[in-house]
Amino acid sequence: MTRLDGAVAIITGGARGMGAATARLLAGEGAAVIVADVLDAAGQALADEIGSRAQYLHLDVSDEGDWRRAAAAVEQRFGPVSILVNNAGILDFGTIEDQSLAAFRRVIDVNLQGCWLGMHTMAPQLRRTGGGVIVNISSTAGLTGYAGLGAYVASKWGIRGLTRTAALELGQAGIRVCSIHPGAVRTPMTAGMDESTTAGQPIARYGEPEEVARLVLFLVTDATYSTGSEFVLDGGATAGFGPALPAADAMEELDLVTCPRD
Ligand code: NAD
Repeated sequence: MTRLDGAVAIITGGARGMGAATARLLAGEGAAVIVADVLDAAGQALADEIGSRAQYLHLDVSDEGDWRRAAAAVEQRFGPVSILVNNAGILDFGTIEDQSLAAFRRVIDVNLQGCWLGMHTMAPQLRRTGGGVIVNISSTAGLTGYAGLGAYVASKWGIRGLTRTAALELGQAGIRVCSIHPGAVRTPMTAGMDESTTAGQPIARYGEPEEVARLVLFLVTDATYSTGSEFVLDGGATAGFGPALPAADAMEELDLVTCPRD
């Protein structure tokens, strides 16, 4: 008996990166998984690898018609969806002064409108299962600003707000909605970035897609008292500033201990 027997999960952007890792892990726990993406060859290959409990669907998350067709196809084959992972996302660098409106809108359309459309289209199916879980993949860019990433940052802050709102609207139907805020994770999205990106973090390395997938699984299965909540997974990147303080004995030598003592 695995933890997700009988569950039906749709994972957008599921063809590669953290979406693919999530599809594999949820399928391993017994869920039927729908790998939804615009990368048809990679998505189909992953569904073939997972086996008969997986299906690939072409789904551009920014397109309402695609969502409606996907919703109907999934329910016909597997029954209503009980797990929605809004993971699809794109990154486009450009300062507020330099980025074109078209580029800004594309990022918002995919990352933010895609997440809204996912919840808008699939929530009725989750209701029909008597509950369910929605996990929205935001970013540390949904917690702070990043120079040169205004559109991406705006989209990821928007996902955070939508997540809280959806949690309020869907809670009484037994549906939990949480957001995940990864920092730098080793996927095709970050392939062009070098190791120095993570050098100042308490955990000074890239995260792995499987580490994100394990947090998705935790939210779906064990986080039964969490909704409208934000889960950060960033190697400590947003914990604060500065190097580690000297060890306590070294601080005593420096007479830096401020707590009054005998
Ligand atoms: P990735 O580029 O490897 O995967 C993203 C997937 O989304 C791809 O398969 C892509 O084809 C798909 N996609 C893009 N546009 C789509 C659309 N319109 N419709 C459907 N699918 C579409 O990236 P990843 O790192 O695995 O990113 C997954 C999510 O995690 C994204 O939302 C991303 O913003 C977020 N994220 C990534 C990092 C990181 O460091 N990699 C950090 C924080 C947040």
